[in-house]
Amino acid sequence: MVKIIDGKELAQTTTDNLKFEIENLKKKGVIPALVVIVVGEDQASQIYVKNKHRVAESIGIKSIITKLPSSTSESDLLALISEYNENPDVHGILVQLPLPKQINEKKITESIRPEKDVDGFHPVNIGRLVMNDPLAIPCTPMGIMRMFTAYDIDVEGKNAVVVGRSNIVGKPMAALLLNANATVTVTHSHTQNLSEITKQADILVVAIGQANFVKKADVKQGAVVIDVGMNRLDSGKLAGDVDKDVSDVAGYLTPVPKGVGPMTIAMLMEQTIELTKRSVGIG
Ligand code: NAP
Repeated sequence: MVKIIDGKELAQTTTDNLKFEIENLKKKGVIPALVVIVVGEDQASQIYVKNKHRVAESIGIKSIITKLPSSTSESDLLALISEYNENPDVHGILVQLPLPKQINEKKITESIRPEKDVDGFHPVNIGRLVMNDPLAIPCTPMGIMRMFTAYDIDVEGKNAVVVGRSNIVGKPMAALLLNANATVTVTHSHTQNLSEITKQADILVVAIGQANFVKKADVKQGAVVIDVGMNRLDSGKLAGDVDKDVSDVAGYLTPVPKGVGPMTIAMLMEQTIELTKRSVGIG
């Protein structure tokens, strides 16, 4: 019988546990503050930002949302980030992606100070992660590693296959698994005989953005299957990258929704606290 990894419940426990730390910081006169900048009207972005704000406020993190019009220039956005970089009362800065065409995403990512980069996307943070000396870690793969710990899933020595190689999910996921002593294969849209590779996986992480792409014939009996995908179907329903029939063969499986998504937000909160503590020399 497949075990469903309850990301929602684990996220709730994780954020509940942070309340105590936030209280302690407040007693020392430190209020953890997270700035989320959103440019334009992208619908999905508006929902993600609202969810992040709700969780932050519920546990006592000061959440500052800065909404900018889609016509915002790159230089105006850079100037705003620079202000937040310099502001000692701000501990985490996140720019919601995607950005409008006139703004270079790479430039923006690189403009956030690595010590305030709660998303962990800055090249310095990615480099440190690859060298197994992390400062800030991309929240989605970080949340997945936390699921393994919470469900006593041993990664060491296992065959891990990551499907997808984005800078925000696939690549940092591979680095984290490698740092945890898994044997890691990263696959992508040019991979040949993908199913032959995924069938070797003890741990299979799928992050490609294609609804129900991985089927049970692609999965080894008893494998741990992590579905990162969030695909909005025409019906309005949310679907993962992994087909429901995988539950016939997997040992563990994350649902969509209530799997990886809530853990991503929980890790964002945790990382905000960690960066806050670091900035004031605690922990
Ligand atoms: P992305 O930047 O679009 O990257 C997709 C990756 O999948 C690329 O590396 C691409 O290969 C690979 N790919 C696409 N089609 C493939 C195929 N048929 N076979 C093998 N590889 C294939 O996506 P992303 O940002 O990583 O996001 C992936 C999914 O996760 C999306 O559904 C997104 O909404 C979701 N997501 C969820 C969370 C969460 O918190 N739950 C967070 C982030 C993302 P190439 O590199 O060769 O093009």
